[in-house]
Amino acid sequence: MQWDHEIIIVGGGMVGAALAARLGHAGISVGLVERGHAPTPPSGDYDLRISSLNARSLAFVKASGTMLPEERCCPFRHIDVANQDGSGHSLFSAQDSGMEDFGIFIENRTLQYALWQRLENLPSITCYTQCVPLSTMATSTARMLELDNGQTLSARLIVGADGARSTLRELAGISTSSYDYHQRALIINVETELPQQDVSWQCFTPTGPIAMLPLPGQRASLVWYDGDEASKAREQLSDDALQMAIETAFPKRLGKLTRIVARGSFPIKRQHAKRYISKRLALIGDAAHVVHPLAGQGLNIGLHDADTLAEIIIQGRDPGDYLNLLRFECQRRAANQAMIAATDSFHHLFTGAKPLRQLGDLSLQLAERFPFAKRMMMQQANGLNPFKMF
Ligand SMILES: Cc1cc2nc3c(=O)[nH]c(=O)nc-3n(C[C@H](O)[C@H](O)[C@H](O)COP(=O)(O)OP(=O)(O)OC[C@H]3O[C@@H](n4cnc5c(N)ncnc54)[C@H](O)[C@@H]3O)c2cc1C
Repeated sequence: MQWDHEIIIVGGGMVGAALAARLGHAGISVGLVERGHAPTPPSGDYDLRISSLNARSLAFVKASGTMLPEERCCPFRHIDVANQDGSGHSLFSAQDSGMEDFGIFIENRTLQYALWQRLENLPSITCYTQCVPLSTMATSTARMLELDNGQTLSARLIVGADGARSTLRELAGISTSSYDYHQRALIINVETELPQQDVSWQCFTPTGPIAMLPLPGQRASLVWYDGDEASKAREQLSDDALQMAIETAFPKRLGKLTRIVARGSFPIKRQHAKRYISKRLALIGDAAHVVHPLAGQGLNIGLHDADTLAEIIIQGRDPGDYLNLLRFECQRRAANQAMIAATDSFHHLFTGAKPLRQLGDLSLQLAERFPFAKRMMMQQANGLNPFKMF
């Protein structure tokens, strides 16, 4: 072989590690370049960063032979979406879409650790940790990657999965379009008197949604979207004052809190790379797109990118073949653009001026009245083909 690996993946976050595990499981040689250390086992209290994994994402992760620890995963079967003043309400149930559940909530670090555990057992995977790319150059048959540890690696395809501030994207000269929502998501992990069961709910207010993501046992991850200043001020409150603010603002169904476990806030932006591919190079996950997190889809669409690219690589003879990469870009850009547009409209419909909010209420009422439309929306959100039922 004239190159060091068939594929090099830059970024061993959840998306990059998932692609590496899937390709390694198929016996393909992969070099995984990660800026940080290999992840350590999660322990103790639940971490702030939680993600929902939908049906397609879970199937993709499992197809690599990765085992997720059941005790740290929380399946959810219902999604309840409402407006704070009660004018619009819709309950989505997995059963109505012919599914047992919608997916699971899992800590980001638990998923990343499980994927890296899998990588350790795959002989075709080599991990290069604590290093970053300095430069990259493509020839007709391979792409080179110069690392800051003095090594230069080559592969037939290099994949950028190095997050929203992707170095590989910058080195390849791919620009992005972006938009700042001037909002932050304040995430608060809490313990509650009531067991938080299999329902995830979201309630729209004029300043942004508030949401509850269930965690195993009497725990929950609360997400409170608001303007930059209001979120930062709330983040600084004492535990008692924050608890009181939550009990006032959140729906009564949350019940009493017994403990504030942790809190932290994250700015909300959207970003889309102008191109996903270049010569023997492809971008996936947040390196390619960042969406508003209100629908819990950012990681999911990143894993769907990885799934599509893995399939093309496993089936094709030359993984860096430009026509194959074009196929990848066409399929994924259309799906991701649709998700960006959907989350953007949700944001503007529910937090915009009153007439827009009334339109938002109407859309919830329509979803409630037409089970067929509701089922299609759920299939789409789960990364499944909504037309499969015909
Ligand atoms: C508040 C909030 C809530 C969210 N909730 C959900 C949810 O419920 N469901 C969902 O699907 N999505 C959710 N998301 C989105 C989700 O978190 C991201 O889409 C996901 O983390 C992106 O994963 P990634 O692997 O592409 O990028 P990252 O997680 O950013 O990983 C990038 C990796 O690359 C490494 N790296 C970076 N630079 C370099 C370099 N130069 N060289 C080598 N390595 C490098 C990093 O160390 C890291 O390991 C949420 C986002 C936010 C902000």
